[in-house]
Amino acid sequence: MTNINNIFSTKIEFLKGVGPKKAELLNKELGIFTFGELIAHFPFRHEDRTQFYRVGDLHEEMLYVQVKGKLLRKEVVGSGRSKRLVAYLKDETGMLELVWFKGINWLDKQIKDGVSYVVFGKPQRFGHKWSITHPEMEVITAETKVEGGLMPVYHTSDKMKTKGLDSKGVSKLTRALLENTYDQIQETLPEYILKRFHFLSKKLAVAYAHFPKDPTLLADANARLKFEELFFMQMKLIASRMGKKTEKFRGQVFKNIPTLNLFYKEHLPFDLTNAQKRVIREVFKDMTSGYQMNRLLQGDVGSGKTIVAFICMLIALDNEAQSCIMAPTEILAQQHYEGLKEHAEKIGVTIDLLTGSTKAKKRREIDETLRDGSLKIIVGTHALIEAKVDFKNLGLCVIDEQHRFGVAQRAALWKKTSVAAPHILVMTATPIPRTLAMTVYGDLDVSVIDELPAGRKPIVTSHRTDANRLRVFGFIKEEIAKGRQAYIVYPLIEESEKLDYNNLMDGYESICRAFPGVPISIVHGRMKPEDKDYEMQRFVKGETKIMVATTVIEVGVNVPNASVMVIENSEKFGLAQLHQLRGRVGRGAEQSYCILMTGKKLSKDGKFRIETMCRTNNGFEIADADLKLRGPGDIEGTQQSGILNLKFADLGRDAQVLQEARALAEQILEEDPDLEKEEHAVIRRQQARFAKKETNWSRIS
Ligand code: ADP
Ligand code: MG
Repeated sequence: MTNINNIFSTKIEFLKGVGPKKAELLNKELGIFTFGELIAHFPFRHEDRTQFYRVGDLHEEMLYVQVKGKLLRKEVVGSGRSKRLVAYLKDETGMLELVWFKGINWLDKQIKDGVSYVVFGKPQRFGHKWSITHPEMEVITAETKVEGGLMPVYHTSDKMKTKGLDSKGVSKLTRALLENTYDQIQETLPEYILKRFHFLSKKLAVAYAHFPKDPTLLADANARLKFEELFFMQMKLIASRMGKKTEKFRGQVFKNIPTLNLFYKEHLPFDLTNAQKRVIREVFKDMTSGYQMNRLLQGDVGSGKTIVAFICMLIALDNEAQSCIMAPTEILAQQHYEGLKEHAEKIGVTIDLLTGSTKAKKRREIDETLRDGSLKIIVGTHALIEAKVDFKNLGLCVIDEQHRFGVAQRAALWKKTSVAAPHILVMTATPIPRTLAMTVYGDLDVSVIDELPAGRKPIVTSHRTDANRLRVFGFIKEEIAKGRQAYIVYPLIEESEKLDYNNLMDGYESICRAFPGVPISIVHGRMKPEDKDYEMQRFVKGETKIMVATTVIEVGVNVPNASVMVIENSEKFGLAQLHQLRGRVGRGAEQSYCILMTGKKLSKDGKFRIETMCRTNNGFEIADADLKLRGPGDIEGTQQSGILNLKFADLGRDAQVLQEARALAEQILEEDPDLEKEEHAVIRRQQARFAKKETNWSRIS
């Protein structure tokens, strides 16, 4: 057994200079309980204290600078909230203003006219004047030695600062701790990896991540720690995926395909795209492998995922197994049901629909036919994972629009089978960047439909301000006159928010006035589900020409005759949502349009989003832009994945590193799945440390 109880598990109060009070603060404010955790509390940036600048050389892009000079005079000016202490520091090239709004009285006593100081802070320019607000000050004396290297800046809290645990305080403790324990920091990556990538040793990387002598060493330290972080994450994800391919997760083997062949030959309504064919081959391979399939199917809106799902269900059907397809909303389940029924009827396959509003009698019938196995394909909502539904032999479960279903719900489905774990196909139209998919869905294999069916015309997207509204309405009228339909969507941040609702209703009224005689539907979150459904169906059937709605129509709804999507207050939507909404049009043969309405003034982010939408129709490009804009934290599915705990890596920027780390993890686990080779002992030890930490955490929470 490896010994992982070492000096780094020592309680933090035993560190010289800490004591019970500071220990408590470190526990409570930063979650630091041990030596090891203090060392793992890395600075979030470094300040360059090797360089001094002259006032005359300052420019606006500089982040933090050090300036040496003599304090000429100081004064307290202003009153109330704008009361401030201003001091004037002069060097041989110019004058720098120093300003404080807080701690004025104390500072006024500390700093003295005629004394020379080193000041440190972020320079700002006001006209010809340079100033630094709340600079750090140090008196220049005979002993002032320039602190070498880059100075680490640590996160602390206000409470900590009052007890001497500001960034400098933390830095001091960390430095002392590192000096004493440096030799005991153990390597966590095999020698051959260090060599291959020219990485620093773990010891050096940790030391330089805190106290680098220069920016190059800091970058080297970061590169290693970043790689290590992603590598161990991928090791865990890949190992868990491999674990599923053992006895416990055997999958049914689906080898026969007579019905599928018949469908292919006689009833396929169109030629499949190459991407669709490829995905079907990938799925078929999984289904014949003897192991449970866990596959994510990514395909942009309109790329034709439904037919792929149907074909996969036929494979199950040809092998005496049942399939279900789950949709996130009732309307979507209904649409899937109708779409699939059309295909199914042609080949004499029965299919049914189960949702929350299925009547009791029908419900009993479905329960029975699922149990005796006579019903082969069922479409539904969450109702499907309720305890009472019982399949004779569930062989395939398709989950549409994955982001609405949690991991727990996916797992609940697995239990509903008597033979083996069902094959799982998760379909999503929210393209998440590949880097993120590899992490969030590290336990899933990924297939991509990266090609739209032939003959689709790319949607034309434009940006209009409220001042153009009449012209926009005029355009909608022309489209309706050509026999087409239009969506007008309003933002809804919170379904219950009164403001949003009023906004929608105002909009609806003005639209009714602008389009006299045109039948108009409205759908929003406050309506009863059956009313919503009714209105939706009217629009689907073409009885109404305009659909005024909140984002309830966002996902999946298919009305090929709709050619215009107007999005009101579009600056309020996120990129993923805008892309989803736009995907509601462009589903037929006609040219479609998306019009993004905004006010006159836009924030920087808002402008970026609108420009991105106007520039491209490609979901992956949009997803990448989204990742750059927001970081991974806000993207669906990331919460459970642990990627938010990344300290060094940034998935938006480190795609390359992630690829390398993943490839390496895959290679290692393929060659040495139990990490038995001597050279991999270091990896095993590190995993044991992680495991220990996790159990500790689960005990606490
Ligand atoms: P999504 O991937 O967004 O779920 P759908 O499966 O709803 O897309 O397909 C969108 C539309 O494209 C549907 O009307 C469908 O019948 C049609 N479609 C799918 N695949 C093809 C194809 N290979 N050629 C032509 N039309 C197709
Ligand atoms: Mg769909």
